[in-house]
Amino acid sequence: EFGVFGLLIGLSGGFAASVFITRSKSLGKQLRMAMRSGQLKIVYQPIVRLSDRRQVGAEALLRWTDATGKPVSPDAFISAAEHEGFIGQITRFVVNRVLEELGPELRRRPAFQVTINVAASDILDNAFLPFLGARLQEAALSAGSIGLELTERTTANSRELGKAIARLREAGHKVYIDDFGTDYSSLSYLSRLRVDAIKINRTFMQALHDQSEEDTIAPQIVAMAEVLGLNIVIEGIEEEQQAAYFLTLAPKAMAQGWLFSKPVEAGRLFAG
Ligand code: C2E
Ligand code: MG
Ligand code: MG
Ligand code: MG
Repeated sequence: EFGVFGLLIGLSGGFAASVFITRSKSLGKQLRMAMRSGQLKIVYQPIVRLSDRRQVGAEALLRWTDATGKPVSPDAFISAAEHEGFIGQITRFVVNRVLEELGPELRRRPAFQVTINVAASDILDNAFLPFLGARLQEAALSAGSIGLELTERTTANSRELGKAIARLREAGHKVYIDDFGTDYSSLSYLSRLRVDAIKINRTFMQALHDQSEEDTIAPQIVAMAEVLGLNIVIEGIEEEQQAAYFLTLAPKAMAQGWLFSKPVEAGRLFAG
């Protein structure tokens, strides 16, 4: 009996210790384990042409459900991965998974583009473009199948970054500035960093309701994009009224948002 009792104490002690260890582990460490243990998956949010709402592509978005079954916000775990220096592993995971899940569908649809979110450190890594090229070649796909979204906050102007973006574009990838309008936006910034398109942040959607000063900023961003010959993707459209507003403002824009579709799993992306 004493032995069993001792064993129980030992077990519960071990259990308490492992709970403690789990709690005290950094988000980054947990995320690394999550990658190995199948807790990460990708969902795809359709991107449509605003004028006819035809699906022209999709954005790959990571989802992490932790060991207790709770979803962890990508904004939180992505910045942890960036700070702890393994965003590169995450990005490669996403590239591999996208090609695994969507390869055959993408081969049938050469005009369809999946965009993935990347950090500045990814594209500054000299091994990244060769990696992407090799994976695409294995999947018998061209560079046009994968576009790259760079968040504005990570694009602090640098000559290196400009060169890296140029190499990606020369290789045939479309490059997008994500969440445009939130940080360093300026005409000179955009004209120095040559990209294909900007994604206009969804904060402008709220502004349409508030009648605040952003109301006048969206038209200026659109005008600026036109001058620079950049395509536009409007993010976060939830209501018909917002779609109508942007259709008038930017008839050729692409759009993304819950009005058209929430992010869906790979199997449902081309389901209809
Ligand atoms: P993002 O790249 O700007 O992605 C768009 C975000 O807006 C997504 O949030 C999407 O679910 C959300 N969204 C789309 N339409 C609507 C809408 O109509 N209304 C509202 N309220 N939200 C909408 P999510 O999935 O939570 O991702 C947040 C951010 O985390 C992303 O912002 C991106 O910066 C980052 N992220 C997600 N997956 C990855 C990834 O694989 N790699 C990297 N580096 N970052 C990622
Ligand atoms: Mg994005
Ligand atoms: Mg965005
Ligand atoms: Mg965002």
